[in-house]
Amino acid sequence: AKDMGKNAYQFFAQDMNSTNTQQFSVQAALRFALEREQLYLMFQPQMNLATGQLCGMECLIRWQHPEMGAISPVEFIPIAEETGMILQIGHWVLQRACQVAQGWREQGLQVPKIAVNLSVRQFKPGILVEQVATVLAETGLPPYLLELEVTESLIMRRINEAVEIMNDLKAMGVSLAIDDFGTGYSSLSQLKYLPLDILKIDRSFVEGLPASSDDTAIAQSIVAMAKKLGLSVVAEGVETLEQMQTLRDAGCDMMQGYYYAKPLSEIEMGQFIERVSA
Ligand code: C2E
Ligand code: CA
Ligand code: CA
Ligand code: CA
Repeated sequence: AKDMGKNAYQFFAQDMNSTNTQQFSVQAALRFALEREQLYLMFQPQMNLATGQLCGMECLIRWQHPEMGAISPVEFIPIAEETGMILQIGHWVLQRACQVAQGWREQGLQVPKIAVNLSVRQFKPGILVEQVATVLAETGLPPYLLELEVTESLIMRRINEAVEIMNDLKAMGVSLAIDDFGTGYSSLSQLKYLPLDILKIDRSFVEGLPASSDDTAIAQSIVAMAKKLGLSVVAEGVETLEQMQTLRDAGCDMMQGYYYAKPLSEIEMGQFIERVSA
């Protein structure tokens, strides 16, 4: 699947660098993908480190192309952002995620919070808040079960505008997470201006745990300061028992990663919820 992704990337990168007509064709391919249901969601469980219980999940988009195979979101999300298709795709992800979660609830499952990734282009005054409200109303998913993840670079770029949108989302009862923390330019001190609930420590700091004393120090101080700011902390990309223990000892609240579970299909995630809540 990795090789397929690389071919796909080269294919698109070529398109992106050339004419508008070709750029339009990438946009057309993505629109076609959306219409033909080549896009779908996977769901990665999150675990509460204190209790060992399922406490949430993150929705991750996938593109299964009929000829090129699986294309990673790392490759097509930036292209979708560039062409503006991210608006339709982002809306679809939000709708689909809420629909699936509400569907599980209607089956009688005890569904934890679902986290949806938002892109820079979706964070628009007068559009995003209304879109989230409409999707929640249409699907019937209670707002407290929806979490929105935004990356720090996005927020810091236009902080005043972002804070306003975030306040409106919070007023609706939705929770807000800052994603990939530590990879951008912001400092923890800037976080105090943002109405956040959750901070997600990027995988790049988790990778080196516990062998790297630098990474351990960084992870420990991110957790300590985030907690002083009243935020819950999720570590991403946790792959080993030792990483999990180091994070738990540092006071990290939740984790997500292959050690607990890989991203699961809708059916697998439903079964996972059923199994752990039985
Ligand atoms: P992210 O938000 O940081 O998501 C976490 C990524 O880490 C996911 O990659 C996930 O599959 C992967 N991962 C989870 N656990 C582990 C682990 O233990 N080890 C390792 N090595 N990797 C792990 P994925 O699904 O390929 O998504 C990549 C990125 O694409 C996401 O990074 C996110 O930035 C973006 N993305 C995915 N879905 C969406 C979406 O619906 N909308 C937007 N705007 N972006 C999305
Ligand atoms: Ca994320
Ligand atoms: Ca992340
Ligand atoms: Ca990440």
